[in-house]
Amino acid sequence: MLKVEKKPIVEFKAPVKKVIEETPTVKTLVFDITGQDFDFFPGQYIMLKVPYPPTGEELRRAYSIASSPLTKDELAITVKRMEGGKASVILTTQVKEGDTFLIKGPYGKFFWTEEMGKDIVLLGAGSGVVPLMCILRYIRDKGLRDVNATLLVSYTYYEEIIYREELQQLNELPNIKVVVTLTREQEERWKGRRGRINASMIREEVGDLSGKLFYLCGPPKFVDDMKTLLLGEGVPKENIKTEKYN
Ligand SMILES: Cc1cc2nc3c(=O)[nH]c(=O)nc-3n(C[C@H](O)[C@H](O)[C@H](O)COP(=O)(O)OP(=O)(O)OC[C@H]3O[C@@H](n4cnc5c(N)ncnc54)[C@H](O)[C@@H]3O)c2cc1C
Repeated sequence: MLKVEKKPIVEFKAPVKKVIEETPTVKTLVFDITGQDFDFFPGQYIMLKVPYPPTGEELRRAYSIASSPLTKDELAITVKRMEGGKASVILTTQVKEGDTFLIKGPYGKFFWTEEMGKDIVLLGAGSGVVPLMCILRYIRDKGLRDVNATLLVSYTYYEEIIYREELQQLNELPNIKVVVTLTREQEERWKGRRGRINASMIREEVGDLSGKLFYLCGPPKFVDDMKTLLLGEGVPKENIKTEKYN
């Protein structure tokens, strides 16, 4: 078992530098962390303190880091608005450039580094794509040509595809394959895959599963289903890493 040294947990304030609308319900917040000594492994998350004006509470919520650890002066998170939610509604409707937040991290054992394995399969649903995107950005930015990564991600509709353009660009790289499947799209114009990720889809897109490392992220049910499926396909449990967005 490979031992990886932990990154120190730090707490700091950072202003929002940019707000990017990814989909009608998803926004990326880019924080300016210039000069901040903050390092993390691709796939880890931070805790964000979010003031909630209706009650005066200070909410603390976990958000995966979307940006690559190689981007030293910026830290990005991508938040999906949950109907009836508190923090996610504030973060996707109220936040503007210049607003400052308290950030603490990094946290989590759901991460990948090149020493852990060179053949990886990333399975995500909805906002579960965020830490997987961080891993892909890291592979791209570090020029890790000897690493092969396949991302299989499901969204509901075409409009809900987070990072649409960048995913297309990543798919052009020789060592990265991106497959998007839409579970509810009715439009004919969508020529990609449809339906939930299942065993035959994984086999078709990934080929031989042996020796590969699997990273699963999304709602608990998605992660549990994918894990059961992979174990059923003979993937050893030590080759499966999971992150559930509760
Ligand atoms: C490790 C980790 C990483 C994460 N990374 C991301 C990420 O990258 N992007 C992202 O978007 N999210 C991420 N999440 C989820 C995130 O932390 C929040 O849980 C999410 O944003 C919802 O927070 P909220 O305050 O809006 O919702 P909350 O107010 O906590 O509510 C959550 C849900 O419960 C429902 N609910 C609330 N109260 C009740 C009630 N009384 N009865 C019934 N239902 C109720 C709400 O309608 C809502 O759908 C991550 C979670 C974890 C654990």
